[in-house]
Amino acid sequence: MELKCAFQTYDWGKRGINSIVANLLKTANADFVLDEQKPYAELWMGTHQNGPSHLKNMEISLQKYIQENTNVLGSNIEIRNFGIDLPFLFKVLSINKPLSIQVHPDKEKAEVLHGLFPDVYKDPNHKPELAIALTPFKAFCGFRPINDIKKYLEELPELCAAVGETNARQLLKANNSLVTDALKKCFFTLVNRDSVMLYITQLLERLERKDDVYKKSLNFDLLKRLHAEFPGDVGCFAVYLLNYITLQPGEAIYISPNVVHAYLSGDCIECMACSDNVIRAGLTPKQKDVPNLMQNMAFDCSLSSIQKLLPYREDLYTEVFRPPVSEFAVAKITIPPGQPFYKLITRNSASILIIVDGKGNISSKTYCRGSVLFIPANEEIKIEVLCFCHPMLMFQAFVNV
Ligand SMILES: [Zn+2]
Repeated sequence: MELKCAFQTYDWGKRGINSIVANLLKTANADFVLDEQKPYAELWMGTHQNGPSHLKNMEISLQKYIQENTNVLGSNIEIRNFGIDLPFLFKVLSINKPLSIQVHPDKEKAEVLHGLFPDVYKDPNHKPELAIALTPFKAFCGFRPINDIKKYLEELPELCAAVGETNARQLLKANNSLVTDALKKCFFTLVNRDSVMLYITQLLERLERKDDVYKKSLNFDLLKRLHAEFPGDVGCFAVYLLNYITLQPGEAIYISPNVVHAYLSGDCIECMACSDNVIRAGLTPKQKDVPNLMQNMAFDCSLSSIQKLLPYREDLYTEVFRPPVSEFAVAKITIPPGQPFYKLITRNSASILIIVDGKGNISSKTYCRGSVLFIPANEEIKIEVLCFCHPMLMFQAFVNV
């Protein structure tokens, strides 16, 4: 069943047809009216109340359809435990401007926060996230190795001033078990400030006069970009505290609960548990919640928090990304040119499939780039490929059981 999906015009999205979100929508929907001025940030595929998908050409939401046909979810007991709904939300993101630095609470904490502040934390669920790059994709994720942070503190008096001179000295001396505490104090002091305008301006002026190699070693361009987008924001100094990573197309990262992160630029496929719980730390005009941030954030400087998630190959054309949560997994299906047919691997849960490139027939109906399909559990799908010049690329989200 083909879906008509909602999209979000958050300010950080790429504009007009430059956004892959707008591009996908336009290719697959004859009635889509493109506005070149609008930022098309996210395509939402699923049943989330803030942007529910509908069955195309029918006056019914996907959620209602599932409620009336519960057999489409599959009979597996673990899937049934998620209730009569999809436990995941599937998205495409197209990022022009950095998103806020954030963490998502774990399940236990999300329940507490939702109980205490239902207006801010609107659901009691955790929000583990998986991002698969479609274009080179840049992000902050987790704290840098402690020796890198120390090196920057030694090099940059402006950074020491921003995190507090005393805190900086303590962190420079700290070893082993004392490191976490010292880092926590630095971070707390930084995010509690209203602005670090003075320190950033001083640092940028000083670096401006240095040679290119030195500038590069201190991520001058990134710092300048963040300051241009969010002048004086405390999040600009994340450059020196958080890992700065680039994913190449097809590479993925899994973000566990409590790991600090921010997506900075690029396009990606994203899948997450159905939740909208975000605790913000910086690069945002929105509300920050420093006490809950500090309580929840993992101050872990080991590289384990930023390991790329490697896929398993299921057959010649399908790789699957399985994060360590049961709500979702995502398959990447690439059918090479010249292969006329492909039978999708049958899933025991309901799934959502998006065609990102290419064109094909399923049950004698033609689908193309941007088509989004809902597939009931255990349904066998055979695709007749209609494009022979380049690979057909698809992503499919399903329950990870
Ligand atoms: Zn996030």
